[in-house]
Amino acid sequence: MTQRPYNFSAGPAAMPEEVLQQAAAEMLDWHGSGLGVMEMSHRGKEFMSIAAQAEADLRELLAVPANFRILFMQGGGLAENAIVPLNLSRGGTVDFVVTGSWSQKSAKEARKYATANVIASSEADGHTTLPAPASWKLSANAQYVHICSNETIHGVEFHELPDLKSLGCDAPLVIDFSSHVASRPVDWSRVGLAFGGAQKNLGPAGVTLVVVREDLLGRALPICPSAFEYKTVADNASMYNTPPTYGIYMAGLVFQWLKRQREGDLTGIAAMEARNVAKARLLYDFIDQSAFYVNKVAENCRSRMNIPFFLRDESRNDVFLAGARERGLLQLKGHKSVGGMRASIYNAMPLAGVQALVSYMRDFEKEQA
Ligand code: PMP
Repeated sequence: MTQRPYNFSAGPAAMPEEVLQQAAAEMLDWHGSGLGVMEMSHRGKEFMSIAAQAEADLRELLAVPANFRILFMQGGGLAENAIVPLNLSRGGTVDFVVTGSWSQKSAKEARKYATANVIASSEADGHTTLPAPASWKLSANAQYVHICSNETIHGVEFHELPDLKSLGCDAPLVIDFSSHVASRPVDWSRVGLAFGGAQKNLGPAGVTLVVVREDLLGRALPICPSAFEYKTVADNASMYNTPPTYGIYMAGLVFQWLKRQREGDLTGIAAMEARNVAKARLLYDFIDQSAFYVNKVAENCRSRMNIPFFLRDESRNDVFLAGARERGLLQLKGHKSVGGMRASIYNAMPLAGVQALVSYMRDFEKEQA
């Protein structure tokens, strides 16, 4: 096969090519069972083994402690914006740190079920900074504190999760890690619940990952739909209703691919993180030294996964995008709410893809000078 183009889509996003090839090879007959994975009963031994392996591999990769449950759900990040307050708010007060579009949406949705306080916001500077945790106006009685640990549209990432205990707050921290899950380790000692759609770093759209501390199960409001009650989902090993079987299988292949990754002495997520740091540095360093391109996010919170950038002369945007497509660099147009360009460089994007992008950006700048 000739080389595929590099896909910089924010999600659904590029998958590791090895995974796509394996799925293609197993499409008609999984491991001699005579069945394709899409055709299997979720209660049969074949699929049960696929799901159990995926969960075990994810637990190992992300070093998820034994007192956390791993759930494979449906509805994506936006459904979790309702499912989390339905399960954890007790109809009381919940705190939100608004650092971009996704946390903004989460706060708005939670208002249907709870009193949602915005305790800090970077709206005034166009979401280019992160409000320091020491400045957050934490509510005394919050049932949880919500952050989006990587804002996919604004390109803002928490490089360290807040330590709520050190701020005198006992409420659990909820993180929306949709767009950087599995790109770096998670400090579970600071987290009560993490959720994320699969379609950026884990697999195809349709699977939502929820990792929840056991003591937070069993608090759902009576109006919570049964299929979205974390305790029900956990008690039934994510098989209360028919789970997104093919998506779980594909995510499982991605987890096995992640476990095979090596970078020097590092393996798995640590290897991915080293590679992600190198990829992001290459692109940010190039943008920062250029008088032609600009990234507006403060250096201490620049995302490793989603890098928005602007041409200083925006009248050249269309020419830039057309030239990029010709060089096999796809989906670089920025989100409509921010404009400009955005390069999403998730785990499946190799360093060579970022090198190709930088090389194109350099040539384009010269050509237009
Ligand atoms: N949260 C974040 C951080 C996201 O990037 C997205 C999707 N881009 C969502 C939530 C919404 O996810 P979904 O479309 O799967 O509901």
